[in-house]
Amino acid sequence: MEKINQTIKDNLYKMRAYFQSGATLDYAFRKEQLRKLKEAIVQNEAAIFEALKKDLDKSPEESYATEVGLVLAEISVALRNLEKWMRPEKLKTNLVNFPSSSRLYRDPYGVTLVIGAWNYPFQLLLAPLVGAMAAGNCVVLKPSEVAVATSAVIARIFRENFDPRYISVHEGEGGEVIPGLMDAFRFDYIFYTGGTTVGKIIYQAAAKDLIPVTLELGGKSPAIVEREADLKAAARRIVIGKFLNSGQTCVAPDYVLAQADIKEQLFAQIVETTEKFFGKDASQSYDYGRVINRRHFDSLVSLLPEKEKIRYGGDHDRDQLYFGPTILSEVSPGDPVMRKEIFGPILPVISYDQKEDALKVIKKFEKPLSFYLFTQNKAHVKWWMKHASFGGGCINNTLWHFSNPNMPFGGVGDSGMGAYHGRFSFNTFSHSKAVLSTPTWFDPALKYPPFKGRLRFFKWMIK
Ligand code: NAD
Repeated sequence: MEKINQTIKDNLYKMRAYFQSGATLDYAFRKEQLRKLKEAIVQNEAAIFEALKKDLDKSPEESYATEVGLVLAEISVALRNLEKWMRPEKLKTNLVNFPSSSRLYRDPYGVTLVIGAWNYPFQLLLAPLVGAMAAGNCVVLKPSEVAVATSAVIARIFRENFDPRYISVHEGEGGEVIPGLMDAFRFDYIFYTGGTTVGKIIYQAAAKDLIPVTLELGGKSPAIVEREADLKAAARRIVIGKFLNSGQTCVAPDYVLAQADIKEQLFAQIVETTEKFFGKDASQSYDYGRVINRRHFDSLVSLLPEKEKIRYGGDHDRDQLYFGPTILSEVSPGDPVMRKEIFGPILPVISYDQKEDALKVIKKFEKPLSFYLFTQNKAHVKWWMKHASFGGGCINNTLWHFSNPNMPFGGVGDSGMGAYHGRFSFNTFSHSKAVLSTPTWFDPALKYPPFKGRLRFFKWMIK
């Protein structure tokens, strides 16, 4: 554990004092800071694009669509709705409390810690930040050290634009920096995005001080393709979902479950679409990214099965950190590629006969972060929604549920707890104080002792 130096520790306590001064509570302050964030991002767009290019070889178009644009959209939604979100929410009042009224007051937690992952290193850190700011918190940001260039550009942007008592950035090895920070200071809320193993470490460390957490984790997200599916659309949406960012997307379809009688047609469509999107040699494609580092690259190589199971691709170049789009067939649940989340451009396709068989495969794994169903059969949609447990997902699509700020995004079980985006981020970073307000003009004696003889009345009134 890194010993946090005195200056850092002092700043954390300055953040607490700043929060306690009430500086972040007013609507005007929150609005102004969100605007400032928007401006800082827009002004630094080129530097952010450059960093994402360096870290993951993302094109400016992809960086905007999957990183910068999503954060700007979160800010726009927050700016448009903040006044409404901050208004106390009126709730119903039961008869026994007549004539009281009931309200929820949204209270910021205080000094929060937001920890990001490397695969979308800008967006996964700053989208939760928007919710934390909207809710009136002070925020310590911990970018992933794995995306080195993006971490540095984020640190600079906040250093240059924000009061460190309000928002501060701590870079460095997560395994050193985070335990150090948590040892030096009791955060009021922790929002973590990353793998399940580290998620458990964070949860345990937070439990010691009863710190509430949101954990945005991963898992093996299935894409099911039924015989009733539009196969062309399914292939397009699975290919983009899987090979975007070289498969390093938490909501990417991890594997495909294809109904046996359409499996071959689906293969053909997926291969054709992959070549249409990224060319015959994806290493030359403007739209195809790179693996983050050699460690992750080696772990992907170790997942490759014997040659006969590689239906397409499998080519890789360690020096270039290039791993081509790869499609596997005849994969069995015991194969290395099915033992953990792949998090790379390898797509196993498993066939099944009946939907009950496909569900059995899904249930072999922990509850997934995402779930994708391709079918035109409405009764089957109903069946799947009833029987499958997952964080969130799409019908006849992949990934896009992540980009709708009107829907909560989060996992369940091993894929996480809690949710965010749009109003749900605001709620996540707020404690809901429930307050009953009672006028004094009506004060029935029945509510006060002596209670003897009122049992029948209470039974009628309270139940
Ligand atoms: P990572 O290595 O970047 O780690 C995430 C964060 O945890 C980093 O900020 C890192 O500094 C910190 N960290 C690392 N080791 C730590 C330790 N021992 N103690 C405390 N903090 C530590 O990211 P990763 O874990 O490789 O990310 C990949 C995983 O994240 C995948 O499983 C993916 O599915 C999941 N993910 C989930 C989401 C989501 O929104 N649910 C988004 C992206 C990634």
